[in-house]
Amino acid sequence: MTSAGLNLSVKIGKPRLWQRLCGVADFSCPLSVSPLAFRDLGLPPMLSFFLGRSQGQVIGPAVLVGDEVSPGQALGKIDDKSFRPSPVAGVIRAVRECPDIQAGPGGTAVLIEPASAVTAPVFAALDAKSAAVEAVMERWRVAAIRLGNRPRSLLVDALSGTASLVVLVSDQEPGVRVAASLLAERGDDARRAVALLARVSGVQKLWVGAAATQSEAAGRLCPSSATGLLTLPARYPHTLAPMVAARTGDAQALVVSLETALAAYDAVVHGRLQEHKLLTLVNSRGASIENLQVAMGTRLSDLVAACNLRLHSGDKLVAGGLMGGTSQYSLEAAVDEGVDALVHVPGEEVVPFTDEPCINCGACIDVCPLRLQVQNIGRYSEFGKFSEARAYGLDACIECGLCASVCTARRPLLQLIRMAKRELAQQAAADEAVREASGGD
Ligand code: SF4
Ligand code: SF4
Repeated sequence: MTSAGLNLSVKIGKPRLWQRLCGVADFSCPLSVSPLAFRDLGLPPMLSFFLGRSQGQVIGPAVLVGDEVSPGQALGKIDDKSFRPSPVAGVIRAVRECPDIQAGPGGTAVLIEPASAVTAPVFAALDAKSAAVEAVMERWRVAAIRLGNRPRSLLVDALSGTASLVVLVSDQEPGVRVAASLLAERGDDARRAVALLARVSGVQKLWVGAAATQSEAAGRLCPSSATGLLTLPARYPHTLAPMVAARTGDAQALVVSLETALAAYDAVVHGRLQEHKLLTLVNSRGASIENLQVAMGTRLSDLVAACNLRLHSGDKLVAGGLMGGTSQYSLEAAVDEGVDALVHVPGEEVVPFTDEPCINCGACIDVCPLRLQVQNIGRYSEFGKFSEARAYGLDACIECGLCASVCTARRPLLQLIRMAKRELAQQAAADEAVREASGGD
C-alpha cells in the first residue's frame, strides 16, 4: 500500500493561465530547506539486507547461516555475478523471505549480527582529480553505489547512455530535510563530488538542481561552464525527479540525490561503502521532527524503538515521504538507499480510502501537474483495463500522489496507478520472455 491519501494540508490555488499552459499548477506545499543536525542511531543488534532483483532476475544469497562476513563481501549473487556488498563485519544469522520496503515483490533478505561499524576504508583511496575514468567506474560498481529511487539501479548502469545528469541538492517531499542538511554540513565535499561526476560521468551536461531558496549555496557547487544551476520552485512536486528532468529539456536526464553523489565520492576518495542512510522523521502534517543517521539495513522494528514511536492498531507507518512513500505492513522491512523519511500517522488521523465510485468532481485533474485525466486512469485501472488506462496517460504519471490527496471520493488513486504500471511492466517482461524463448521472432 502506498501512502497517498493522508489528509495533507495541501492548499490548491487556482492555477494561473501560464501555469495551465505549461501544465504546472500552483500549490502551497512548501519544501523545507533549513538544515537540521543528524542524530546517529548507532548499530542495531541485527541488520537486514534485502537482495531484490537485478534486471528482472532474482538475486540469490551468496552466504550461509553461520558464515562470518567482512566489509565488502558479496551477500547476493546471480550465477557468478556478485551483488550487495556487506557494509559491516558480522555473522550471518538468517537468510529468509522479507518484504521490500519499497513495495516491490518480497524476496530474500540476509540478516547479519554486526560485529562493529566499519571504521577503516574497504578500498584503496583514489585521487578524485586524476583517477582514471575506468578505475572510478569500477569502484562505483564494486561498491554498488545505487540510486535511491525505484528501480534501484547501479549508478554506473544508470549513467550508461545518459546525456544529461542532475545532482539534486534539494529534498523531494515536504518535511524531508536530508539533502538540505547535507548541503550545509558537507558543502565542500558536495562541490568535489559534483566535479568528480562532471569529469567521469561522460554526460554532455551536468546540472546542479536546487530549490530557489538554496540557489546561492547550490551555485557554489558548479565548478565549470559544463555545469549549470537548475533553479526549481521550492514547492512540492517541483523537485520530484521526473519534474526536475523535464526542466532540463531532456526528459531522460538522470537525477541523482546529493546523498548518492556523496556516497559515490566517498567510495572513490575514502574507499568507503555506503554504511548509513540519512532520513528525516516527519509527522503526519508534513513537519520535520528530527534528522537521523541510520545504519544501512536497520529494520523498522529497531528504528521505531530508537525513535520512541508507540504504534497502535490502525496507525500507519510510512517509509518515504508523505506523498509518495509506502505504508508498511511489517516491521521486518529494512532501511535501504530509497528511504529518505519515516512518517508515523496515528490511527485517528488516518483518512481511509474507500471503494466509492468517482463522482466526476474534477479535483484530481485540477491538482495533477500533468493535467492527466486521473479519474479515467483510476477507473480503468480499478477494473484491470490497464491498456485503456495507458491510453489516458498512465505512463506519464510522475506518482506525486497529489490526486489521491484531494480526491473527494477518497479513491486510492496512486495505488491504482502503481498497480496498473506494475501489471503492464510484468506483462511486458512476460511477453519479452516468450519472444526470447521463441528465438526472438
Ligand atoms: S495522476 Fe500522477 S502525476 Fe497526476 S496527480 Fe496523480 S500521481 Fe500526480
Ligand atoms: S477527485 Fe476523485 S471523485 Fe473527483 S474526479 Fe477525481 S477520482 Fe473522481
